[in-house]
Amino acid sequence: MQSTHRATLIPGDGIGPSISEAAVAIMEATGVVIQWEVCHAGLAAIAAGKDPLPKETSDSINRTGVVLKGPITTPVGGGYRSVNVALRQQYSLYANVRPCVSFEGINTPFAGTDIVVVRENTEGLYTGQEMYVDPDKRAAIVVACNTRAAMEKICRYTFEYARTHGRKKVTCVHKANILKVFSGIFLEAFREIAADYPQIGAEERIIDAACMELVRKPHAYDVVVTTNLFGDIVSDLTAGLIGGLGLAPGANYGDKTAIFEAIHGSAPDIAGKGIANPISLVLAGVMMLHHIGESAAAERVNTAVRAVLKEGKTLTPDLLPGSSYGTADITKAIIERLG
Ligand code: NAD
Repeated sequence: MQSTHRATLIPGDGIGPSISEAAVAIMEATGVVIQWEVCHAGLAAIAAGKDPLPKETSDSINRTGVVLKGPITTPVGGGYRSVNVALRQQYSLYANVRPCVSFEGINTPFAGTDIVVVRENTEGLYTGQEMYVDPDKRAAIVVACNTRAAMEKICRYTFEYARTHGRKKVTCVHKANILKVFSGIFLEAFREIAADYPQIGAEERIIDAACMELVRKPHAYDVVVTTNLFGDIVSDLTAGLIGGLGLAPGANYGDKTAIFEAIHGSAPDIAGKGIANPISLVLAGVMMLHHIGESAAAERVNTAVRAVLKEGKTLTPDLLPGSSYGTADITKAIIERLG
């Protein structure tokens, strides 16, 4: 008998509700039964007169432990603290896994790219502890924190990921030449953990050289492990290698909770136009289906997405400039191709 799963759905802001609707429709079309607890966060919660991360949303996440989340708007330079960062810290979602695998039919100069970026998700520069140091606001500092425990945990997670996913190599991306202690503590942890996995290659790259090399020869990379800020940036770069933000999913894993999301933001410039590309969130849904033990359904969705992209017809304008197809069309096309 088909089991029923429970999950929290946070539709998000901007294009979030429309791409969430698409992802849910596609996941449900596989026949997998998910009872969604729909909750709000970010602008949507504020519009309803609530906190950016309301208690009922936290309660739902505590209950289900599994979340599909649309992008949430974070005000730039002021306003409330990022709900995304708050969620990652509140639920100790220490591993942000962002796979970037090329698609047939999407023309980029980087065909055959297959890189998984694993980003430490709770420490580094994302502590939220920043301040001006003078009354004229002409200088500012931020408190950054990397603990040895968290660095070891993310490195072990990454090597385990490589081992269980048949990956051959992990590259540690750091800046320990300049940040000798802050980034050095990460590099030291990497070296120690790598020694426990002699069957998996271990390489080290300084972040700036890594960015250049990722573009020049992406095939030299397999799994990348890095700290919070570098991972945020590098994973957008790797998304660019495969055709853009609309194609790259992400998962945030903790010991008890997992949140699946697109790596892009709420795209306010195209919100409400019906042209948002839902594939990044649909592929986050694929990661979620694997997580809840529905791997056959996950692979059906993955195959259907790849078929639609390979055909290259029913694509949103970010993938096919000038296209008149929108979110609803690509969703229908993916559902039609579910085997
Ligand atoms: P963005 O990713 O929202 O948009 C960047 C560009 O990519 C825009 O031109 C947008 O139209 C395009 N784009 C993004 N996703 C697309 C899609 N699915 N289909 C078609 N085009 C797409 O980045 P931004 O404009 O810098 O950020 C907007 C807001 O999103 C900010 O408030 C930011 O803090 C937030 N944000 C949230 C998350 C998250 O919830 N995880 C991640 C990143 C940014």
